[in-house]
This record gives sequence, structure tokens and C-alpha cells, in this order.
Amino acid sequence: TDGTSFEINLQHIINVDGRAQFVAFANDISKRLAQEKAKDEFVSTVSHELRSPLTSIKGGLGLVLSGATGELSDKSRSLLEIAHRNSDRLVLIINDILDLQKFSSGQNQLNLAKTDLSVLIKDAAAANEAYCTQYQVGIRLVGTDEPHVVECDADKIFQILNNLMSNAAKFSIPGDDIVVSLATDGPDTLIAVRDYGVGIPAEAQATIFDRFTQVSGQDRKSKGGTGLGLNIVKVIAERHGGKVTLESAEGAGSTFVVRLPSRHSAQGRVQDAEILD
Ligand code: ADP
Repeated sequence: TDGTSFEINLQHIINVDGRAQFVAFANDISKRLAQEKAKDEFVSTVSHELRSPLTSIKGGLGLVLSGATGELSDKSRSLLEIAHRNSDRLVLIINDILDLQKFSSGQNQLNLAKTDLSVLIKDAAAANEAYCTQYQVGIRLVGTDEPHVVECDADKIFQILNNLMSNAAKFSIPGDDIVVSLATDGPDTLIAVRDYGVGIPAEAQATIFDRFTQVSGQDRKSKGGTGLGLNIVKVIAERHGGKVTLESAEGAGSTFVVRLPSRHSAQGRVQDAEILD
């Protein structure tokens, strides 16, 4: 009631005479929670403060690169292009950090509405087409011919699709397809994003959904990225009451499966998940 938070640790002890006893330890974790809050606020403030000067740097570089301020030597152009690419990358990192921070502080509420996932997946595929072409990868859609309506936050699920599809394209072998499929499993909806690319070694799989995790290896250099994308996928799936799992083998590609509770069928009929909620 005074704002103090406790973490209770219950230990089960068996006495020599066979009687069971329980001992409870109460740790005051208020200080740790206050420190976590202060850290979140610090990260958020710093990220916000970085965004506006960065926008101005990006704008300036873009203008010079467009030729509006005069001719550039080849050397200047290539240096400026590197700076411009890196400022894009910084914007991505900052936006990802801010998104995650909003989620962890509970500020980022889901905006739930009935959404046709078949349409959303087609939109995400269209949005990723140029990126896939860059990696010479095709996109195949399965199970998206019929409407599949689920109550979810469409923007956030789009972000999941975007992160998984862009990873799948990045780590594919040129000439291959990535496959995005939509299916129902009992009361749940499954969205799977499959690639036939480099795969993720078993030892890296346990931590792949953690922040800033990137798998090292010669094929993986120069792919860019922040190491935050999969953490965002996990947080969004869990916020929807769902989860994301990975099946992968090195050299054989990866399948990421997002499981969402389907509250509404295509006809808007309430399904089991709603009753269980
Ligand atoms: P980013 O792609 O921005 O680095 P992610 O969190 O999305 O961050 O991914 C983390 C790492 O997981 C990637 O850097 C890559 O090493 C590995 N990874 C993600 N998706 C795949 C995939 N489909 N195939 C192989 N490796 C992947």
C-alpha cells in the first residue's frame, strides 16, 4: 500500500521426520523497479533527443546527394552515400528502441480491430517486393485466397510480417522463394514465414529473440539490421496473447511461426478462444 513491491520466494523444505515445511523469503524489489523505470525513461529521452538532429543530418545529406548544391566528385559521392545509409540505419535503430521502450512501459496499447489477415499478408508482400527483388528472392503466399478475419492490431501484425519477411529475404539464397502461409490450428491462427536460406545454428536459437542478438558468420556480414527486429516480433505476438516459435537448421533455412488466438472467424463468429479468454 505504501508503493513498496515485494518478490516472494517460496521454498519447500522436507524435514528429517518427513514433514513438509515452507519458508517464504520476501525481498523488497522497489529499488530495482525504480531503477528499471529510470533506465527506461533515460533510454526514451536519449532516443527522442537523437531523432531530431539525426533528421536534420539526413535531410542535409540527401540534399547534397541530390545534386541541388552542385556537382560532387565520385569520392565525395560515395562517402556521402555511406553516411546517408548509416543515418537511415540509425533512424531504424532509434525507432525500434522507442517502440520496444513504449511496449515495456505499457504506453504502447494495442489498437484492436477485426482485420483480414489474408489482405494484410498480401499488403506486406507488396511492401516487401522491392526489397525481395534486391535479394533476388520471390514471395509465395499460401492460404491467403479466402478472407481470414482476426481481432488484432493490424499495424503491429504488419510490423511482424515486415520484420520476418525482410529477414527471410536477407538470409535466402538468390533465386529461392520465401513462403508466407496462413492457417488455422483449432482456435488459433498460424502465420508462418519460411525461407530456404542460411538457417540459424542450434546454439543461437535460444537467444535469437533477445534484443541486439545477431548471429555471426561469414555469410551474414554486411546485411545491416539492428538485432531488434525479432525481439519486436516476440513482444507484439505476446501482447496479442500469442507467441512466436522458430524451426531452423543451419544451411536448410528457417521457419518462424506466429501463433495468434483467433477471436473471430471469417464470418465474425466467436470461436473457442473467446470463450476461454
Ligand atoms: P536484424 O535482422 O535487424 O539484425 P533481427 O532481430 O530481426 O535483427 O534478427 C537477429 C538475427 O537473427 C539476424 O541478424 C540474423 O543473424 C538472424 N536471423 C533472423 N532471421 C533470420 C533468417 N530468416 N535466417 C537466418 N538468420 C536469421
